[in-house]
This record gives sequence, C-alpha cells and structure tokens, in this order.
Amino acid sequence: MVNYNEVGLKVGLEIHRQLDTQHKLFCECPTKLFTDKPEIVFTRRLRPTQSELGQFDPAALFEFRKGKVIVYEANRETSCLVEADEEPPHNLNPEAIHIALQVACILNSKIVEEIHVMRKTVIDGSNTCGFQRTCVVALGGFLEVEGKRIPIQTICLEEDAARKMGEDEEKIVYRLDRLGIPLIEVATAPVITTPEEAGKVALAIGKILRRTGWVKRGLGSIRQDLNISIREGALTEVKGVQELELIPKVVEYEVQRQLMLLKIKEELKNRGLTEEELTEKFFDLTEIFTDTKSKVVRKALEQGGRVLAVKLPKMAGILKMELSPNLRFGTELSSIAMFYGGVGGIFHTDELPGYGISQKEVEELKRRLEISEADAAVLVADKFDKARDALKAVVKRVREALRGVPEETRTAKTDGTTRYMRPRPGAARLYPETDVPPIPISQGWIEEVKKTLPPPLEQVVDRLMEEFKINRKLAEQLVDSDYLDLFKRIVTETTVPSTFVATALTETMKSLERKNIPVENLSNEQIFEVFKLISEGKTAKESFSVIVEWMAKTGGQALEAIQTLGVQTLTTQEVEAIVKRKIEENLDYVRKNPDKAFNHLMKIIMGELRGRVEAGLVVKILKSSLEKFS
Ligand SMILES: [Zn+2]
Repeated sequence: MVNYNEVGLKVGLEIHRQLDTQHKLFCECPTKLFTDKPEIVFTRRLRPTQSELGQFDPAALFEFRKGKVIVYEANRETSCLVEADEEPPHNLNPEAIHIALQVACILNSKIVEEIHVMRKTVIDGSNTCGFQRTCVVALGGFLEVEGKRIPIQTICLEEDAARKMGEDEEKIVYRLDRLGIPLIEVATAPVITTPEEAGKVALAIGKILRRTGWVKRGLGSIRQDLNISIREGALTEVKGVQELELIPKVVEYEVQRQLMLLKIKEELKNRGLTEEELTEKFFDLTEIFTDTKSKVVRKALEQGGRVLAVKLPKMAGILKMELSPNLRFGTELSSIAMFYGGVGGIFHTDELPGYGISQKEVEELKRRLEISEADAAVLVADKFDKARDALKAVVKRVREALRGVPEETRTAKTDGTTRYMRPRPGAARLYPETDVPPIPISQGWIEEVKKTLPPPLEQVVDRLMEEFKINRKLAEQLVDSDYLDLFKRIVTETTVPSTFVATALTETMKSLERKNIPVENLSNEQIFEVFKLISEGKTAKESFSVIVEWMAKTGGQALEAIQTLGVQTLTTQEVEAIVKRKIEENLDYVRKNPDKAFNHLMKIIMGELRGRVEAGLVVKILKSSLEKFS
C-alpha cells in the first residue's frame, strides 16, 4: 500500500460538462448530434500560422507534424457557417453565461466584471479554425467535501471540439455537430491528497453542476482532466477520464507509474549509466532481416523501409519493467516513438526473440551493436526518416529516465491506465478572440441569478418525498441520477405509480449499466414512451427492463420493442382462458389441496406470463375461478 501522504500526492481536477442549452456557444445551432449520413463533407489541412502564434507552440507543432488531411462531416441542422469557419462567431450565448453564473454563485466564486473570449491553440483538427474558444467567468471560490475546503481556481465556458469519428494513416475524420456545444469547466486547486478524495471531489462538483438542471447526460457529455504529481515526481496531466468511478484508479496508477520511474532512475544510477553513454548512434540492420518471418518488419521493408536500431547500454531488463498494469517502460518508449516518428511501434531486446523475430536475427543484432548481457537495444522498422526520428525520441526519453519523471500530457484508457499523449504544452497558449465583443456582467444580472438559484439538494429530496410519496432512499437516488426531470414528467403525465418509476429510473437503469447495456444512448423521449405504454396497459411494468435493454442495444422505439420481444399485455379474456386451462391441467392438485392451490397456480401462471400481465389481474381472476373448489 502506498502512503499517499508520504509520497506527497497532489491532485487538481478540471471537470468539464456539456451544457444542455438550446443553442451552441457562438451560433444558433442546436446542441445535439446526428447519426445519419452527413449531408456535407469537406477537407482541410491545418497548419499553425507564424503571425497568429508569434512563436510556434510545441504542442501545436507536434500535431501539425503528423501532416494528415482533416475530413469534416456535417449536416445542416446541427452546424452552420460558424462551425465551418466560414463566418465569424456570433455573440456569446447568454443562456450558457447564466448557467455558469449560477455555478459561480453556488461555488462562492468571484464573477469577472467583463467576460473576454480567448483563443487556445489546438492543431489536431478538432476545431476548424485551429483554436478553441474559452473564457473565464469566475475566479476563486470553494466547496466543502467531507469537512475539507477545496479551493476553486477558475470557472470557464468553452466550446466543445468536433467529434472524432476515425483516423488512418492519411486522414482524421471529425463531425461538426459537437463543435461549439457549450462546456462548463470547473478547475480545483491541487489540494487533493488521496485517490479516494479525488473521486469524492469530482462527485461533489458533478452534483453541483447537475443541480443547475442544465447539464447534458450520457457518454461524452462529461470529461475530467487530472493534474497529478508526487513530491519527487513531476506534474502529469491526464486527459479525458469519462467516468467518475475511474478517477481514484487513474490517480492510483499514476502514482504507481511515477514511483516505478523513480525506482528505474535509482536502478540506472546504481548501474552507473550516464547521459553521455546514451548516443544517437543508429545502426542500419536492414540486411539482417531480408528473410525475416516478422510480418511487421517484412511489410515495412516491402514498402521501402529500413530497420534501424540503437543500443541502450546497461538497460537490460528495464524495458520490461511494469510501471502500472499493462504498461511497461517499453510501452512508454513505443508510444513516444509513435508520437515523434509516426511509426507503428518499436521492438526491444527484453521481448526478443518474439513477434516473428528469430533467435538468429537477435544474435546477429547483438553482434553488430556489440551488446552484452547488461545492455538492451531498440529496433524500428519504417521509412528511414520516420525510424530515425522515432529512435531519437527513444534516446531522449531514456535520458530523461536518468533524471526521473518527465512532465507530460497523458490520455486515460477505460481501465484506468494512461498512455503518453504529447509533451506538456507551453504556457503561452491564449490569444484574444477579436471577433467576439467582451460581455459586461452587471451587478443586476448577478442579483437576478442569485434570486433564481436552484435549491440545495437536501431541499429537493424533501420536496420529492412529500410531493411524490417516495421514500428518502429513492428520492436521494433520483437527485443523484440524470433522470430527475424525466421522473417528474412521467409521474405527472402517466398513471404509473411513482415508486415504480423512481425504482426503474435509478436501480433498474444502474443494474443495466452494470451489465454494460448502453442506456446512455436512450433519449428522455424514448424512455418516456415506455412508461406511456405501461400506463396505457400495452405492456406490463415487469417488462420495463427488457424493453429498455432492447432499445438501448438496437436504437429502436418502445412499441417496436414490445412487439419484437412479445411482451404485449394480454387482454382480460386471454388471461381468463389461460387461468382456466391451468386449473384444468392441475385439477387433481386443486381438488386435493384446496388451501395451497392458489399459491401453486399463481407461481405457475406468473412464471409463464411474467412481463405480459399485471399480477393483480391474475390474482383477481384466479381467486374467483378457484372459489367453486373451496
Ligand atoms: Zn452553427
């Protein structure tokens, strides 16, 4: 067990959530995504312009170096000329400002006198104009989490980026529908000291954002960036954690990774390795591999590539050391080689022979590079320039290992581990957005917001219990869920009992989520429709779970689900006929056990009809049918 206090863990969070406004942040397009074929497709090649940036931003430059074509897909409903960068942005959406001001008031932040929109360079193509627009709405503030005061640094509004649909060697495909959807960003000071606390703070901020009633739900609507450091380590920025539950794990693994890197530093020091010994002396070993069985190498050679190798003295065994689950030091070098050289990956001697590379080839490699038992080597098979750039980056990264943990930006994977993403961007990344005038925030506006602040969650829970006659546990779960508004609508507009609706929207939905059913794909309208059909007697309450599961998997509608699954409700006549038949089939039992007959038959009938009939109706019909036997 790691003693987080001892290692000096510090975590800061940046919580991003999409706002459920009617329009996007800088135009009047709706904030929704499209699933059909795109109506418009166009391509761009993005490059940073010297004049705009003054000086090339290293992070921007690296994205640019990849030199891919960017393909944008759009439809007319969800994007206009603003998203295509054919027209300047319109004024900042006042609805989004209002929500951000609410959050600022709840978090005790100091609201700025004037909102200034800024440009933040991004050259991965996710914004058509080459930058993301962002603006600070409030500074400072705090929230209390389990008695500890967590300072807030900033509350910002940002435009969401275009949605990445795919990438190959030549191009990256984005959809413009998501571009411009307002995001609120809440950043805490780096005062969090354990993985669990990071999870709790994120949850608490999530609740505050939800309290406004204006945040979107579902996958992709929530993203968390984590700034993690330990005393002897370095600041790592982990981007794109999509699930709240994953946050403690990400922090835990990152601490593990940094501690292992420190251990490697010690080990290399003990082995007496110096930076001078790590040279950019690359060997061309192509001829060793002319008859290779390795598919990767063969393919590279067929396309005119070379096999380059570099010796890493005194590094034997280091590359296979595990930094966190499924992440070896070799994996890190591989990610770096991919990023800087654009190659598919690396081979290293800690894992060879293997991957089709034979013992004989390895021996020849060792002979050429003069590798002893204590040394290691890295190989790359690709076009000469790419392979050379990849190996240069590998050597640079190994030199950094002698100094400990390098600062970097990493991307989160769904298992909580992270992968190298890019170097940490330089500090000067913000430029004024001259196309959008500053928005003054008057005292009157702030007073207005304060008057309309959503009530504290405890109050919402009490009101729910009283108004809808549900117990505290369900009321609390509803408030924590994304379905509170939907719950109110269903209970108001249908006759389905409130306790059933609350249970279905919380416990049933959660258990479906745990089974990895993508319920986040369902719209409120789709879910409402299921309750409406239950209310109209078209299907039974008991079928809710299977109907929702089918809809989430297929994208189909409720009525279709009921028909396909065969869970239409039986008519009273049909139930009567079935009850009659079951009594006849069990006539002997009924005659011999008049007391037990009801329970016995009820079990049989419900076992067969579950989901297609309300139990109450069967009880009524069965009771009256059995009367003549008692
Ligand atoms: Zn638009």
